[in-house]
Amino acid sequence: MKNYHTHTFRCGHATGDIVDYVEAARAAGLDALGVSDHLPYPDGLWADTRMPYDEFDEYLAAIAAARNSEAARIGGGIAVSAGAEGEWIAVKEDYLRDLTAGGRLDYLIGGVHWIPFAGDWLPTTHITRPRELTAFADYAVSTIESGLFDFIAHPDIFCARWRKWDADSIACSRAVLEAAASTGTPLEINGYGMRKPYVNSEDGYRPQYPFDRFWELAAEYPVAVVVNSDAHRPVDVAAGLAEGRELAARFGLRVVEDPVPVVAGA
Ligand SMILES: [Zn+2]
Ligand SMILES: [Zn+2]
Repeated sequence: MKNYHTHTFRCGHATGDIVDYVEAARAAGLDALGVSDHLPYPDGLWADTRMPYDEFDEYLAAIAAARNSEAARIGGGIAVSAGAEGEWIAVKEDYLRDLTAGGRLDYLIGGVHWIPFAGDWLPTTHITRPRELTAFADYAVSTIESGLFDFIAHPDIFCARWRKWDADSIACSRAVLEAAASTGTPLEINGYGMRKPYVNSEDGYRPQYPFDRFWELAAEYPVAVVVNSDAHRPVDVAAGLAEGRELAARFGLRVVEDPVPVVAGA
């Protein structure tokens, strides 16, 4: 198994360094690890959830060091890919594109944790009104259609607060699924949502995400899925991977094993 969604202490709300994740991944029997801490922006945007931009080079060096470490090489070895979880924003497309095109990163995950709404950034776990949901769909579609991201993290994150499976959430989901299908962008079944407190809904007591109804609908589209732990602690490096694959199998969804370049150590 593999996990391509991993955070480190650098973001301020996770623990462990890259080498700790490599060791935990090996202990869990993974054969590939992607490190994808929250991407810093040169102007300090969303600074309270990510490393400062001037620490980014050290982060990249730490990934390279972990990739070539003893821990990554013993036994069958483990591949370590250099990634980051970013947010699309039109005025920063050049910055985002150069990260992978310029070879600093092997891959980029698209997260949609905020959307521009009413002149501010609205957290997508706080969406309660139909027009906010429409704004989420628009922004998620733009994120996907930018072509900058190797896969989209937790596309059903809006289900954390939007508890009803109604015409609004179905329309939002269809917009996201259609964009993913037409661009060939994989969507992530996210293990972190499974570890967060469950919520009550008309569909019973359920994880905030992944939400079954979204993935059931996904089966109507030719979309590919990736399954990741979204680990914020080394001990969680493989958390939710088996459950996520079960969910995919239940709805007949196709799991892509290597959505990003797999990079073995020297
Ligand atoms: Zn995080
Ligand atoms: Zn993440």
